[in-house]
Formats: sequence, C-alpha cells, structure tokens
Amino acid sequence: MIILYSLLGLLTGAFLNLAADELPQRHSLGSPRCPYCGQNYLPSEWIAVFSFLLLRGRCQHCRAPLSLRRPLLELGTVLAFAFLWQRHGPTPLLLLFTFYICILFLVLVIDLEHRLILNVVILPAILIAGVGSLIFPGPLRALAGGLIGFASFYLIALARKGGMGGGDVKLAAFIGLATGFPSIIVALLIAILAGGATALVLVLSRVKGLKSYIPYGPFLVVGGLVALIYGPQIVAWYLRLYH
Ligand SMILES: [Zn+2]
Repeated sequence: MIILYSLLGLLTGAFLNLAADELPQRHSLGSPRCPYCGQNYLPSEWIAVFSFLLLRGRCQHCRAPLSLRRPLLELGTVLAFAFLWQRHGPTPLLLLFTFYICILFLVLVIDLEHRLILNVVILPAILIAGVGSLIFPGPLRALAGGLIGFASFYLIALARKGGMGGGDVKLAAFIGLATGFPSIIVALLIAILAGGATALVLVLSRVKGLKSYIPYGPFLVVGGLVALIYGPQIVAWYLRLYH
C-alpha cells in the first residue's frame, strides 16, 4: 500500500509541476508543455523523473533541457506521500495532511520562481483548511492559529510599508488554520528568524539594501511544514523545559 501511495505521490508531483507552470501565466490547466517551444509534452515526458532517466531530461521537440525543479518536486512529493502513509495510515488525517503538504509545495515553487502567492492557490486552501479543522486540529485551535498567523504578518506588513505582499499574510493565515494554536507559533518563529537571518546576511554582504523586500513566503512554507509535522512535539518539548 505504501508503494501505491508513493506512486500516487509521483503522479501528484507531475500535476503540481503542471500547476506551477500554468497557474502563474493565468492559464487553465491543460496538457503539460515545454516552456521553450510551447509544444505539448508527449505522454512519455509527463513524469519528469522518467524523462530524466529515459530521455536525458530534454524536450523531445526542441531538445531544451527540462527544469531541474520538475524531478525534484516529483521526488519531494513521493517522499512526502511515503512519510505520511507511514505515519498516518489510511485515515482522514492522511488525506488532510497530504493536501496541506501539496499546497505548501506548490506555494513554495511558485513563490521561488515568480515571487507570487496566487489567490487561485491560497484562497481555496484556506477554505478547505477551515472545513478540515473539524478533523485536525479542532475548530477553536484552528481559528486561534489562523488569527495569530494573519495578525502577525499583517502587523509586519504594516510596519514595513510595501515590505511584504498580502500573499504572505494569507499564507500565514492558512498555515495557522492548518497547524492550529500553539503549533502556529513554531511556524511563525521559524519563518521570522530564518527570514530575518537571511535578510541580515544579504544586507551585510551588500547583496541587498536595508529597505529591500524580504520574501518571507519560502520561510513560511518551511516553518509550516515543520509545524504541521513536528509542531506538537516541539511545543511539548519547550513546555517541559519549564517543569
Ligand atoms: Zn520544447
């Protein structure tokens, strides 16, 4: 069963690649196609892992190399699916966490490539996290987490005018709904510390000026993944320090 679920992860990874290609261009999801020549990929090219293994990772029409993101995203999705099956087995929690991790992967890839967090991705995710909170982490914890996530990043956005897009605020609200209170604190701390440390390094190395944009999105995704999977353990460990 775990192998079947991992295979489903491979197909889902290929689908996430398609979504990451098409959604930022405001295209609806059609057939996967080459970003260079625009030709539809042949079915043998749809799964990038196989394309790299069998077709040397090149478009069969124009020979342009496939983006390395395609096989990496597929492998990441396979690993995530295998891990979640191992951990949750066939339960509603498995489906919910699988959905959350797919959303976070998609947000990560699109944000890294386009510096965008698309409403078409994050708004349905927020809606489903609202309903999913009945399964995990419970409606009250989810509401508290969502409000804390939203409010923290809303305040950061206000403090640095134009320093952060509304996308980060919506992403923080989604992660809060999905992980709940108190796990959201773990996600926010990781995002803010990692984002701040990276910004500091960039400013000190003079790659960027003091007022330039800090892209919190990818750090929020990392924080969200850690909080979703290990949040309760990290919170319990922290509380034990004081007993
Ligand atoms: Zn091509």
